[in-house]
Amino acid sequence: MLTTALAAAAGGAITAREAAAQENVARATRGTPSPKIKDVSVIATAPAGLRLTVVKITTDQPGLVGYGCGTYTQRAELVNAAVEKYLKPFIIGKPTDRIDDLWQAMYNSSYWRNGPVLNNAISGVDQALWDIKGKQAGMPVYQLLGGKHREAADCYGHASGRDIPEVLESCKKYIAQGFRHVRVQVGVAGMAGYGSGRGESKVQALHSAPVYEPAYYIRAALKMFEACRKELGDEIELCHDVHERISPIQAVQMCKDVEKFKLFFFEDPLSPEDLSWFRIIRQQCATPIAMGELFNSPHEWNPLIGERLIDYMRMHVTQMGGFTPARKVAAFGELYGVKTAWHGPGDVSPFGHAANVALDLVCYNFGIQEYSPFGPTTREVFQGVPEMRDGYLYASEKPGWGIDVDEKAAAKFPYGTNEGGERKEYNGGWGEIRRRDGTIIKQ
Ligand SMILES: [Mg+2]
Repeated sequence: MLTTALAAAAGGAITAREAAAQENVARATRGTPSPKIKDVSVIATAPAGLRLTVVKITTDQPGLVGYGCGTYTQRAELVNAAVEKYLKPFIIGKPTDRIDDLWQAMYNSSYWRNGPVLNNAISGVDQALWDIKGKQAGMPVYQLLGGKHREAADCYGHASGRDIPEVLESCKKYIAQGFRHVRVQVGVAGMAGYGSGRGESKVQALHSAPVYEPAYYIRAALKMFEACRKELGDEIELCHDVHERISPIQAVQMCKDVEKFKLFFFEDPLSPEDLSWFRIIRQQCATPIAMGELFNSPHEWNPLIGERLIDYMRMHVTQMGGFTPARKVAAFGELYGVKTAWHGPGDVSPFGHAANVALDLVCYNFGIQEYSPFGPTTREVFQGVPEMRDGYLYASEKPGWGIDVDEKAAAKFPYGTNEGGERKEYNGGWGEIRRRDGTIIKQ
């Protein structure tokens, strides 16, 4: 048996099973010039206080390395362990040029799949392999997928405030920078709004946690849309994120109530646990719906796209398993008239943002891109990030994702601290938000 011979030749350092795996790799790559995966490591860094996971794949070809985003900032160390303890031994020695095949192998090898930790770990490897393939070809990744449909990705910025005048002021700043789209979020005095400023005061409650009451938020948001249209006119495109914080029937009402404001999209009116309510919303109004940043699984996005129940798919690309599944789902959406609006918050590494922009450029059914600026500390660690000009995000024209990592700089920003070096609560995870009576709400 060749496997036994291989194991014997290795002096017992590997098992017969591992030798068999190596033999399979050798058989699969015989006659092909593919580089092989020589090492896999995690670059764990928090340059802006948010814990980023970057997977680095080193090949057996000198200087040929790839990077990918696997950032799940709320549970980052678990992703890093999944990469180092499970994916690394599974993929060492395998060819780098069979990306989809390796994705399927990683996805299925855990048996229990579609969870955020493992999907992010797979994404880190997947995106690193696309980076390597682009570098081999001497092309940016978007060229590997057929090239550009558009020159750059039209983006929306996050306009917010503790009250309506602050929101309007924030909007005007984005408009002055050239943005054609803004996401508007307003706070409620004394409460913990999503994506809005928070005042010092706090409403009376039966507990000491941050307070949120859905009905207060809904009334404030409706007044904000009215003020935005009155003060900013009809030309600016308005987005809004409910962040799944209201009840399903409140979501139906709110989708109907905002119809007259002609929003660009209305995001996450329902939680992933309440997806069947989208059919009811669809039957009652034509408010454009965006959904998906919490999705892990085809079980979630397939029905919504296939039944045309949403208008924008907003998945977090690393959370859905990386670039490979995202491009397939985008193509699925094209057939059903559902556009892309990939999740682009601060807790995505620049490699994740680069993957978003590559998809934005190559997918005919691009809708909009969420934009989060790259600060000076992030740029110190990552060189070659996508560039923002006049509300458009431009991809790097360098091979692969076009981004280099300064690992010494990355080590200056360890997990668990904010930009000022202070320890973060809950090891960087989120806390809790409650209604006045103490009931927990979704974040
Ligand atoms: Mg959102």
